[in-house]
Amino acid sequence: MDGPPHDVPEADALTRPYWEAAARGRLLVRRCGACGRAHHYPREFCPHCWGEEVTWEEASGRATLYTWSAVHHNDLPPFTGRVPYLAAVVDLAEGPRMMTELVDCPAGTARAGMPLEVAFRDGIPVFRSGPGGGEPGPGALGSTAR
Ligand SMILES: [Zn+2]
Repeated sequence: MDGPPHDVPEADALTRPYWEAAARGRLLVRRCGACGRAHHYPREFCPHCWGEEVTWEEASGRATLYTWSAVHHNDLPPFTGRVPYLAAVVDLAEGPRMMTELVDCPAGTARAGMPLEVAFRDGIPVFRSGPGGGEPGPGALGSTAR
């Protein structure tokens, strides 16, 4: 047989390792061997320097919250049964910014810059409050000013 496999589009061949890793609870990013920067979503070349020497690496799963928006209406399944949910943009510790969803985050508790960690729901990366986030730690008591 010659030619590319007819059942797998090019884009799927590129992103398949990402989804296979996600199904096992691991988050991957692509890192450029030329400039050393990571990017997301997966591309065949580096969006920073156009280098093609791009490889997969496992991300730490740590991120900080950049921005978010509560979604109250979405007619597309499976979102219909999930509203309201928090659509979020997070900054991965490795650098790339990623569109995702914030979970286990009670209304009003999200704040820009809060630490997050990756979680997986049905093989889809989502984020929740991470170590140091959520409840104020003992250190926060000392910052109480009159
Ligand atoms: Zn690069």
